[in-house]
Amino acid sequence: MSGNKVRVEAIQAINNYTFETSIDFKTSSSIEMFGDNVFSVTVMKKRLPKDIFKKISKTMEDGSRLDPSVADVVASAMKDWALDKGATHYAHVFFPLTGLTAEKHDSFLMPDLAGNAIAEFSGSTLIQGEPDASSFPNGGLRETFEARGYTAWDVTSPAYIMENPNGATLCIPTAFVSWTGEALDKKTPILRSMQALNTQAQRILKLFGDDSEKMVNSTCGAEQEYFLIDRNFVTARPDLMTTGRTLFGAPSPKGQEFDDHYFGAIPDRVLAYMFEVERELCKLGIPVKTRHNEVAPSQFEIAPVFETANLATDHQQLVMVTLRKVARKYGMACLLHEKPFAGVNGSGKHVNYSFGNASQGNLLDPGDTPHENAQFLVFCAAVIRGVHKYAKLLRSVVATAGNDHRLGANEAPPAIISIFLGDQLSDVFQQIASNGGATSSKAGGFLNIGVDSLPDLPKDAGDRNRTSPFAFTGNRFEFRAVGSAQSVSGPLVAMNTIFAESIDHIATELETRTGGDGAKLHDAVQEVIREIMAEHGEVVFNGDGYTEEWQKDAEKRGLPNMKTTPDSLPCMVDEDIVDLLSRYNVLSKEELESRMEIYLEQYNMKVAVEAKTAVEMADTIIYPAAIKHQTLLAENCLKLRELGLPCDDESLDKITTLSRKLREASASLKGALAHEADGSIAEAKHCCEAVLPAMVTLREVADSIEELVADEFWPLPTYQEMLFIK
Ligand code: ADP
Ligand code: MG
Repeated sequence: MSGNKVRVEAIQAINNYTFETSIDFKTSSSIEMFGDNVFSVTVMKKRLPKDIFKKISKTMEDGSRLDPSVADVVASAMKDWALDKGATHYAHVFFPLTGLTAEKHDSFLMPDLAGNAIAEFSGSTLIQGEPDASSFPNGGLRETFEARGYTAWDVTSPAYIMENPNGATLCIPTAFVSWTGEALDKKTPILRSMQALNTQAQRILKLFGDDSEKMVNSTCGAEQEYFLIDRNFVTARPDLMTTGRTLFGAPSPKGQEFDDHYFGAIPDRVLAYMFEVERELCKLGIPVKTRHNEVAPSQFEIAPVFETANLATDHQQLVMVTLRKVARKYGMACLLHEKPFAGVNGSGKHVNYSFGNASQGNLLDPGDTPHENAQFLVFCAAVIRGVHKYAKLLRSVVATAGNDHRLGANEAPPAIISIFLGDQLSDVFQQIASNGGATSSKAGGFLNIGVDSLPDLPKDAGDRNRTSPFAFTGNRFEFRAVGSAQSVSGPLVAMNTIFAESIDHIATELETRTGGDGAKLHDAVQEVIREIMAEHGEVVFNGDGYTEEWQKDAEKRGLPNMKTTPDSLPCMVDEDIVDLLSRYNVLSKEELESRMEIYLEQYNMKVAVEAKTAVEMADTIIYPAAIKHQTLLAENCLKLRELGLPCDDESLDKITTLSRKLREASASLKGALAHEADGSIAEAKHCCEAVLPAMVTLREVADSIEELVADEFWPLPTYQEMLFIK
């Protein structure tokens, strides 16, 4: 193998790598271990006195307040359980606006008066923690003198044990709020939005005769895409190390054109990794269901069975943490960045979403009776209306520096938010919409809205709706524009709230039009759906979202097309968005302003770090390689001339020109970086319009250099090596 020393050594290390495992899968299968490390309902039932168990179950079901005396008993049982599992510490886990997971660890250990150690954990410690909040972003919400925040146990998400080779920690999922009650995290608004959705959905259910008052919860199943790259390559690339994506790299001669990776046999080391990831997740009670190769080489996907939105969000964070952690053990790095490699597909997270309750199950599942079908269509119409009315909110919650490389790049949905309903369901709505005027109705039935029986709607998501950001897949919607590194919280909060608002609207219309007379319901439903389709039907699009025509068509339809993060984040504080989120007590104006500020800052910091890394790599790694190559050619020319032979001036000129261009491009990028904008929106615009294009120019030059430089001088692992050596 020729090549630069760094690369050769990395490749040798990979060839010599053998993974060791201590897992004995024959004596303990991951299925048997499911939930082993969770303080689950079953564990509580076993360990808590009956009356206490009843009280905590009620709190878990309806979100009522936890009585402190109950908390003490629960804390004590939880501690005993955790000690039995070998835990010595506990941690309040929370989800700050960085999108990461944060935890503060404390020991159970308390010295007593006699000089012995006892394990202590009270109800108040369980319910409430007080991490130093000052180092988490708050977007100007708190002044430093009131920088404290507190974490409060979210009873609906069970505590669990995180294992480490040298110890175990009891983890308590918590919400993180300021002392004045503002949300500083990603969990609080989820809980609030779920309540909003429930309140409104109950009104529709009541109209349709479901008085059970069973809590309506939204559900989420997130398919996570990721790349696995050998760590030896990652550590040899400053861009992958610090930014999670390659800022340079000429395309590999072979890419994804053969489609030979998608659903292909999973390489051995990767499969071993997946088994261990799933084992870890199973212990944490996370039901992993599918795994497969994705489209790009070295790209994979993992999907759990769906759960209640709040729990799914916590679990999704744990999935990301576990994917990264276990990868190290197998000598790999798990890249969750949306676009780690140019020219091959990036990674997204498909957020499958629905809502339902214990009495009827999934409310977005067409039923077997006309009555159920009508109710299904009402909820579906609410989704259509919500997506149309608040498309910009859905766009803004997927706006990140990483996701900008993906959306609209013909591998992921465009930045235009539309809905794919599929031909059959579209047809049903078309019929209702065009079926003008009230027709005679059969008492108690819904025949007049043309939906006495719905066609069997295809339930496989397949490839047919790949290009749609928001697709109906038979019994749920799939929000496909979410970035792979993102928390699913923002998207879920947005969906819960916009559908709550739509359901509120529809419920009010139906209540008014029926005036309490159930016999009038079917006519009212027909009218309301017709009106919704007339006003919002333009958001339905079943065609190919990747085409130029769609961009034009969407513009005619008046659908927003916000291509970048600085385009879309500021709409979080538009009047209608503030009104929406504050009306349902999900996020106040101040909370939204702080969030927008934090997300813009994150965008700006991300771009700045990338730009600095690019400059550094260009100046200290790529330029020297170019010069070495230039020197080699120059020396060769000298020798040839001495011998009176013609020399290859063209190659020498080429590398000389490119080297100079590299210096220039690096200097312009530095110049763009030095600019100081007034405020974070202006800064984000500058990043988007000046810094990122300067990075693209620099990359183009560098990639041309890579294609010229002698292999033995090229110091960065190549696309070919990173994507294909396993
Ligand atoms: P596909 O690749 O066809 O989209 P997958 O099986 O990879 O399908 O993923 C589908 C995801 O949708 C899974 O996480 C699944 O649990 C989830 N899902 C199924 N039903 C619902 C539902 N009612 N609410 C939310 N998510 C759901
Ligand atoms: Mg899938």
